[in-house]
Amino acid sequence: MELAARVNRVSPSITLAISAKAKAMKAEGIDVCSFSAGEPDFPTPKHICEAAKTALDEGKTRYGAAVGELKLRKAIANKLQQDNNLNYQAENIIVTNGGKFSLFNLMQALIESGDEVIIPAPYWLSYPEMVKLAEGTPVIVETAAENDYKITPQQLKQAITPQTKLFVFNSPSNPTGTVYSPDEIRALAKVIVDQDILVVSDEIYEKILYDDAQHLSMGSIDPEIFARTITSNGFAKSHSMTGWRVGYAAAPPKILQAMAKIQGHSTSNVCTFAQYGAIAALESSQECVQKMLTAFAQRRSYMYQAINNIPQLSCPQPDGAFYLFVDIAKTGQKSLEFCQDLLATKQVAAIPGVAFGMDNCIRFSYATDMDTIKEGVKRLSEFVDLRS
Ligand code: GLU
Repeated sequence: MELAARVNRVSPSITLAISAKAKAMKAEGIDVCSFSAGEPDFPTPKHICEAAKTALDEGKTRYGAAVGELKLRKAIANKLQQDNNLNYQAENIIVTNGGKFSLFNLMQALIESGDEVIIPAPYWLSYPEMVKLAEGTPVIVETAAENDYKITPQQLKQAITPQTKLFVFNSPSNPTGTVYSPDEIRALAKVIVDQDILVVSDEIYEKILYDDAQHLSMGSIDPEIFARTITSNGFAKSHSMTGWRVGYAAAPPKILQAMAKIQGHSTSNVCTFAQYGAIAALESSQECVQKMLTAFAQRRSYMYQAINNIPQLSCPQPDGAFYLFVDIAKTGQKSLEFCQDLLATKQVAAIPGVAFGMDNCIRFSYATDMDTIKEGVKRLSEFVDLRS
């Protein structure tokens, strides 16, 4: 039996594979410190769970519109207006199976053989694979640590060809935690408009910002960039709702209708009662988001200091998200080998940078408790010591 060629063009998701392995080891009773998937360790806030339970009790257990419950789409439109200065109507919004499916669906709707999609590296590992699954060509643009892993307007312009259809933009960024300044985003928007390409702005980490970092939604800059922007977001990271699988995209009508068509033949609607949890997440106090942010900020400071105290390791201080992207070049090891040895000998799980397009680095998610962070960094330090 021959599998479809597209399967061989993509790699499995290493973030999901390593976090599943770490969870399985824990279930066997092994004392693992897991810094693998970007999954907040907090329970979903109670009022959100209660809203979903009420929806269940009220019989919200049926098929709904494939694009999502109108009440949720209205709440999302309202949130995008209030928080992001983005003028979308409910009709411009599709609720998807996590932020991930909004991106996958978009690639299916837009990209075909011959189309190029520009992706700055390091990148979230699913972006290029989604492009390949849509038969398109990912065009990877390497960014420099010295430039905080940001693509410059010149680099973007140089990468654009007549085949370029889409630019994938992610700020705050996974895996580096880099946050582009509003001026930097405006400069990229100018290139996008001048060159007349589309951009998908993945804003899943927008609420996780430290110190003076600011979030600016790409589509909010002016009507010209708005017309070329698809905004993707979700509830997983901001409201600790990873397993709920509720995300969304907001897009110009033609693109939205195409995505709706694809969703009608793939996932249909997101779990109906889960959508009612998402409505509560948007319509209640955002204090829970702030509480989690305070904890992430403490963990970031501790882990950033502790890792930079290990002689052979270094990383920039991230301005957003909950990842540290650590340079391991001085250890002489490649990222996959480093992570495999670290897990096998010290039971510390991290994600190899090769998965994000940068083999001299590894990613640690600090969306985990302080005890795990302290113990994990101690083991990491012993591991590096043994090798020097
Ligand atoms: N986006 C998260 C991460 O990068 C969750 C896992 C995944 O979907 O890749 O860890």
